[in-house]
Amino acid sequence: MGISLEHLKESSTIAYFCMEIGLDPALPTYAGGLGMLAGDTLSAAADLGIPMIGMTLLHRKGYFRQHLDSKGQQTESPADWSPERSLQPMPQRVSVTIEGRPVQIRAWLYQLTGISGHTVPVYFLDTALPENTVWDQTLTDYLYGGDNHYRLCQEAVLGLGGAAMLSALGYRNVQVYHMNEGHSALLTIALAKEMSEGHSLRELSEATIDAVRRRCVFTTHTPVPAGHDRFPATMVTRVLGDELSSTLQSCRCFLDGILNMTYLALSFSHYVNGVSMHHEEIAHSMFPNYPINSITNGVHAVNWTAPSFKDVYDRHIPEWRWDNLYLRYAVSIALDEIGRAHRHAKNVLFAEVQKRTGLRLDPEVFTIGFARRATAYKRADLLFSDMDRLRRIARQAGPLQVIYGGKAHPHDDGGKRLIRSIFEAAAALKDVMRVVYLEEYDMTLAKYLCSGVDLWLNTPQKPFEASGTSGMKAALNGVPSLSVLDGWWIEGHIEGITGWAIGDSWEPESDQAKEIASLYDKLERVILPMFYGKPDEYCRVMRWAIAINGSYYNAQRMLLQYLNNAYVATASAVWAPKYPHEYDHG
Ligand SMILES: *Cc1c(COP(=O)(O)O)cnc(C)c1O
Repeated sequence: MGISLEHLKESSTIAYFCMEIGLDPALPTYAGGLGMLAGDTLSAAADLGIPMIGMTLLHRKGYFRQHLDSKGQQTESPADWSPERSLQPMPQRVSVTIEGRPVQIRAWLYQLTGISGHTVPVYFLDTALPENTVWDQTLTDYLYGGDNHYRLCQEAVLGLGGAAMLSALGYRNVQVYHMNEGHSALLTIALAKEMSEGHSLRELSEATIDAVRRRCVFTTHTPVPAGHDRFPATMVTRVLGDELSSTLQSCRCFLDGILNMTYLALSFSHYVNGVSMHHEEIAHSMFPNYPINSITNGVHAVNWTAPSFKDVYDRHIPEWRWDNLYLRYAVSIALDEIGRAHRHAKNVLFAEVQKRTGLRLDPEVFTIGFARRATAYKRADLLFSDMDRLRRIARQAGPLQVIYGGKAHPHDDGGKRLIRSIFEAAAALKDVMRVVYLEEYDMTLAKYLCSGVDLWLNTPQKPFEASGTSGMKAALNGVPSLSVLDGWWIEGHIEGITGWAIGDSWEPESDQAKEIASLYDKLERVILPMFYGKPDEYCRVMRWAIAINGSYYNAQRMLLQYLNNAYVATASAVWAPKYPHEYDHG
């Protein structure tokens, strides 16, 4: 089964553009959740036989390798890797003009093979060619590295270069362009140029704009302002040239002389979505003049399920690999089987912790996991707000230990400070509990952590968590969440059934004091007593996490929703085609 690459070039295809795509531990081409989500989406397409193509940058030096000293001081080094070991170089060359210079681009191919043999090609764009200037050769080196100017050049390679590369590779029938986050939004201008048949870009007709819009889908991923790229007009003109710059101006993608990539993507997409029910509302309040939908994120079920749980599912519900909805039938699995599979995953995690740090953790002790990008709004240190209370809980309600992971962006001093503060807390709590911070949180470590702890803790400041996906990975392994009610947890949380909420209110913004009190109350009065006193009850929560959340928050369900709501509808359901001039971005 499955269609060949040659056949794919002739058939209708969906091109999925993303600045980062994480596919394989050997390819450090991602930074975090966005890249994992992109990889999981394309893996689901391969499984379902959906004709999709991935487009991203090569990132020869990765995001970065994280080093933490004994005080938790983070330093970074390049994550060098060898594309030739895992990827196939393509002979095609395309060129984009950056600062008036032609920049040559080639692509490397990774073929993702799905469960029934269908393949999804993923192309990694690369400017490290001898024809390019030394500086241009570095444009596809660092993911989220360099300054704003470097980023705009990278986005030109991704959006303009990616669109040109698809044609050069022979994809003649791309029906849908999905921009996963705004970094690739320049692709809309490349499409407009293709579709305006030789006319100058300065005079984009409404028909051309509609034609582009009919093909484009845009997913926005964050309410955090820094997550929306903005470039000053002078830089845009210098990098992209007069013609592109004035086209962008005429499309009202500038606000106060600043190009906003989110507005560009919004203006040229017929379908726009946020990544959870709640994020749809937040995105709507940020961009009130655009119709915003929601498709809640999901994770690739088979990729994120630990071997011991795969065994259990294969025995009881073998269909789960083809159709993740069958995980709903986990309700019939005996609790002690769930408990045994979890114990196994916990032992595997602890063996890995010992291998990495030399530390032997006690598998009888209740273990909390917290791993995500170290950045201020994620509030990694919320658990340590009241050390005396935490000590009392550990002494009276039952012993506990915590395993942390997560990188701070090299320029994020607040994030780096958070990591140091976890190290300080670990030292201060030494007499009552173990707190371990693991270096190099990545796809491999995420698999161990999300499956091997007893509770997945999430403490984002509302409303900045658009979705969150690591709690979904945990749910697939029967690990319940204790989380602030933000992002996906608003939908996935049923108190005492799939996990627990920090703060029971539906207030739109975090009340830190209330959340801290609630976090401790839940641990002290509900979760620890259940874990130590009623292990069967705890296993029942684990089973519900699988049956209710694992069966739904997976990439298969997510992609089928994109297919139904965004991709297939592409040709017909163009939303009221008002010209973007009519929009007031204020
Ligand atoms: C899943 C994952 C993330 C995203 O986790 P959030 O819960 O969305 O913060 C980040 N990094 C890695 C390595 C992951 O596997």
